[in-house]
Amino acid sequence: MPFVNFRALRSAIPIKRLLDRWGWKATTRLIGHAERGRCPLELHHDPQGRSFSVQHVEGGWYCHCCRAGGDVIDLFARKSGLALHEAAIQLCEMFVVDLPELPGTGKRNG
Ligand SMILES: [Zn+2]
Repeated sequence: MPFVNFRALRSAIPIKRLLDRWGWKATTRLIGHAERGRCPLELHHDPQGRSFSVQHVEGGWYCHCCRAGGDVIDLFARKSGLALHEAAIQLCEMFVVDLPELPGTGKRNG
């Protein structure tokens, strides 16, 4: 298993691309480059569609109902039930991005 450069992956795949793919629509535009909407994780009721917020510039998200947040990789991992490493690899395949690997590590993962 390759060592994934998570930081490079975060900048290669904006969180908006993943949300667009899921058909996510913001219900509220917040000050700055932030939006709020229904939680795409669908683990709870969200009748007002405001529990989930995303910061596009920072590439971060947070859901007040899930009490969870993170980056694009965390979001995809939660939605898909994959481990972070696996989620990163799948994200790259999904968006046809070369998997950014960390150089110079001949060690095994873990
Ligand atoms: Zn949620």
